[in-house]
Amino acid sequence: MTYLYRCTKGSCRQRVSLKHHHTWYLRKPKCKSCGKLLENPDNWQMKKNKENVCSCDALHFPHRAGSNIMCIEYKGEVSQEQINEFHKQQRG
Ligand SMILES: [Zn+2]
Ligand SMILES: [Zn+2]
Repeated sequence: MTYLYRCTKGSCRQRVSLKHHHTWYLRKPKCKSCGKLLENPDNWQMKKNKENVCSCDALHFPHRAGSNIMCIEYKGEVSQEQINEFHKQQRG
């Protein structure tokens, strides 16, 4: 679970993601860029992410459900060729 925050300082608005809710931390998390305390989770952004981001761990990066052939939510047929291509891309 990732908690998304956005700095509330008007001129900053830095996005910050935390592994836990800000109240979990003994040392209150602060904005890295201006030092303001992070006190309000970005619920809108988190809701948006929840809707779009797949929770499977077939891929090591965040992705939309079914957006990638390796995703368990992928609905189409996957050929060995596509899988080979995927691994080729991973190696860069
Ligand atoms: Zn800030
Ligand atoms: Zn997935």
